[in-house]
Amino acid sequence: MPGRNEGTDRFCPVCSGPLGLGDSGPDSLVDALQASESRFRAAFADAGIGMALIGSDDRIIEANPAFAAMIGREAPNLVRTHIHEIIDPEDTPRRLYLELLRGERDRLRVEKKLKHREGHAVWSNVTISLIRDGAGHPMYTLAMVEDVTEQRLLGDQLAYQAMHDPLTRLPNRTLFFERLNALFGPGQLAEATEAPDAADAADAPVPDPVDPVGPGELDSSARPDGPDRLPQLTELAGQGKRVGLCYVDLDGFAAINETLGHHVGDELLVAVAARLEHGFARGDGRLVARLGGDEFAVLVCDSDGSEQLTSLAAELIKMLEEPFDVAGQQLVVTASVGVVERRIVETTPTDLLKDADATLYWSKADGRARWTLYDPDRGAHQLTRQRLATALRPALERGEFTVEYQPLVGLADGTVHGAEALVRWRHPRYGTLSPDRFIPLAEESGAIVPLGKWVLEESCRQAKRWLLEFPDAETFVSVNLAARQIWDSDVVADVAQALKLTGLPARLLQLEITESAVLGPGGRPVQALQALADMGIRIAIDDFGTGYSNLAYLSRLPVHVLKLDGSFIEGFRDPAPGGRPDSRFRRTDADEQIVGAMVQLAHALGLTVTAEGIENASQAERLRLTGCDTAQGWYFARPGEAERIAAILREGRVRSA
Ligand code: C2E
Ligand code: MG
Ligand code: MG
Repeated sequence: MPGRNEGTDRFCPVCSGPLGLGDSGPDSLVDALQASESRFRAAFADAGIGMALIGSDDRIIEANPAFAAMIGREAPNLVRTHIHEIIDPEDTPRRLYLELLRGERDRLRVEKKLKHREGHAVWSNVTISLIRDGAGHPMYTLAMVEDVTEQRLLGDQLAYQAMHDPLTRLPNRTLFFERLNALFGPGQLAEATEAPDAADAADAPVPDPVDPVGPGELDSSARPDGPDRLPQLTELAGQGKRVGLCYVDLDGFAAINETLGHHVGDELLVAVAARLEHGFARGDGRLVARLGGDEFAVLVCDSDGSEQLTSLAAELIKMLEEPFDVAGQQLVVTASVGVVERRIVETTPTDLLKDADATLYWSKADGRARWTLYDPDRGAHQLTRQRLATALRPALERGEFTVEYQPLVGLADGTVHGAEALVRWRHPRYGTLSPDRFIPLAEESGAIVPLGKWVLEESCRQAKRWLLEFPDAETFVSVNLAARQIWDSDVVADVAQALKLTGLPARLLQLEITESAVLGPGGRPVQALQALADMGIRIAIDDFGTGYSNLAYLSRLPVHVLKLDGSFIEGFRDPAPGGRPDSRFRRTDADEQIVGAMVQLAHALGLTVTAEGIENASQAERLRLTGCDTAQGWYFARPGEAERIAAILREGRVRSA
């Protein structure tokens, strides 16, 4: 292509007017030049690419038809047109162009936005070459212009698609993180190197404390040398700036999807997105994004405090409560929101999102349809919960668990009938942990399956020892089974194996299952129950009375024992005071009647009854009068080592009730 060639004398003939060329030299040279000129003219005129010669006065000397067509004009009319009528003057390329004109560079490639005559923009790649005269002095420039509008629009389109959710058209997770990271930016001091999500920070050099301020704003003589000056710097850097995040999740969205179909679910999401965007997106300051599924986020880039965020969350919840018209029906949804608000310097994008996620989870756990503001204390607790959960399995392998036993005492004669096995975690750092601290975590993580299996074996082994030492006592062991053990593992096989391994007769094993675990996820009683009962094992319903089951229904299942929850017995605590009919007395009286009726009904249905949480003699006595069979509680004995049970068995009775 001619323009690529910078040999000037070959191109001078191109220009018709201002150049006094070819005034000397042999005819053959003139001929050659003329031939060259006509070749170039033809190429110039017919080129598919836009071309223009531009003089040093920034006016067009000549433009070809392709260039003229690109901007909706006629080539002849472009002669003497100032280039600023066609392009936007921009600083940097202009500076480079002037360098080119001065001969300091020979070529320049820029992307330029040209003005079409009808007003719209034409994106172009422009290559500008300097044309020099015979003596090497700059004369004018040749611009070759390629229309890249379509590529550019396509690129924009792709960029848009990469950053937006196709269903709701809201900014997606990628854009959300891009904006969030930009807030923290390379100016983030200490965090910049720590935040794994801050993409820019990863490649950035060690952050210079002066960078966030920019040159000129900080007197360099005031630049601190020691790290102890940093806090002041962060203030200078305007890093009192705050950020807020509302992390939104619709309640029960999965059910809508399942019952009404995905198309209804999708339409609902679109409607929710529209409401959120309309209500809360504001220019650069706020971003409403869809983070996935039915999760949305409102990012407040310039928060002025947690109150702003919590009232935003409240407003948001209220806004979503209004019914939605979707697919010809009215749908009512609620949302749970986790709110985090803090100073930017005190956090990282990762922590912000992690805490928002935890807070959203609290909203769900506390009953949904609400917002919850992040609470660092609760968060710290969460941390240890998480640590404990991951430590469970290794702890089991290291043998950090033990089982304590608490006697189950016959109320009629005060003898020990059996003992409940209660697991403990002897944690090397936190001391002895009660099961309430880690059993729920073990259930969540699935670690309950190996842990429960271990407890089962350990307890059976212990009961077998009691049997060997006291062959006539027939002391049984009562082991708690978690719902997940029954639903998710082959509990029947595990129990059979434990009995076989330890040699304990099945009749000396009782399994405690809560009401909710007896009925599986589908609301039907779990099959394992019958299989276990058929093996000759006794099944007890633990914490009875805290659920909703129907006693008559339970009695039709292979269940043998009801363990009344401790809360029933609480009212039994004080002896009825001297016949004085105060409210306390009346309540005690009512509790006694309820328990009495329950015991009678259970007996009529063929169940035996155990009461939990007996703490004093009067409770024990009152309970005995109701006809309750066995009892368990601190009054008789606290949970303790297996040897305590043996000692009581040796004595014959724990305490006369
Ligand atoms: P649970 O099965 O209802 O066990 C009775 C709980 O009441 C035990 O708490 C026991 O120490 C406590 N307790 C006994 N007597 C009294 C009393 O007089 N007053 C009061 N206030 N409490 C009394 P612990 O040992 O902390 O166990 C709590 C729960 O942890 C158990 O409740 C049981 O649901 C669960 N658990 C314990 N060990 C295991 C296990 O090996 N596997 C499973 N899945 N759960 C277990
Ligand atoms: Mg129990
Ligand atoms: Mg219980």
